[in-house]
Amino acid sequence: MKHQLEETISQKEGEAAESPRVVVNSDGSVFERESQDIAKQVEEADKIVSDYLDMRFDGAYRIDISRQHRTSMALLHVYKGNRGRMDFPTISVRKGNAAVIHETTHVIAPNYNRFLAEGLAVYIQDKFSQQSVPPTFGQDLHGGASESELKLEDLIKETRDYYYYWSRRMSQSQERRNAYLHAGSFVKFLIENKAYGADEKSRLERFKKLYALADNGEGRMFDIAYGKPLPEMEKEWRSYISGQKQRSEMLEPMLAINQKPVSARL
Ligand SMILES: [Zn+2]
Repeated sequence: MKHQLEETISQKEGEAAESPRVVVNSDGSVFERESQDIAKQVEEADKIVSDYLDMRFDGAYRIDISRQHRTSMALLHVYKGNRGRMDFPTISVRKGNAAVIHETTHVIAPNYNRFLAEGLAVYIQDKFSQQSVPPTFGQDLHGGASESELKLEDLIKETRDYYYYWSRRMSQSQERRNAYLHAGSFVKFLIENKAYGADEKSRLERFKKLYALADNGEGRMFDIAYGKPLPEMEKEWRSYISGQKQRSEMLEPMLAINQKPVSARL
């Protein structure tokens, strides 16, 4: 199968206009229709993420589905100079919970800063999909982040060249899952907190400015993009998410009460 995939790609290299946008390879552990379904999901995700970020990836997506893959992966392939390559574990394809939007975000908007790259991927997956997919499994991002207290100062250091939370030995750890929740929650806060712009479009533009600075390894990126140092941003974020948590805890009993008349009306 691998050999076949290489042939398909090399045959098409000279004729860019006709190249398939998405090529799926598998170790034979999934049905053809499951491979086709993943290809379709990636095409849809490509459109969703490109439209939202106003960023494009013009190359081909090369997907590899295998029992050997323990987690899905795209960003490390970008780091290795293999942008567009995506791995999905067989189990996630069969269960229908492959993190397709997350991995597509990595391909369209990779970043040298691992923390912000993961945060954006988790946030966009959460924003555009109702599915319960790794690594956060549909958990409320602010609620999840408020359950532990990793320091942003440590998390923001995670890059292509330095990693602790995203090192191989941490891969199945609770700390890694917490790091994903922190990343997703912090990016959500930057894009949704009204203090950082009048509407979502302007807040997203501001975030993209930060993201571009991060990609260049700019240490003063928060001061430049937000006019504040990271410790100040962290305080605001912590107070924002604890406020959100209190609000949702207050709303929960009200929602439960409100749900009853709905079913009574049916
Ligand atoms: Zn990721």
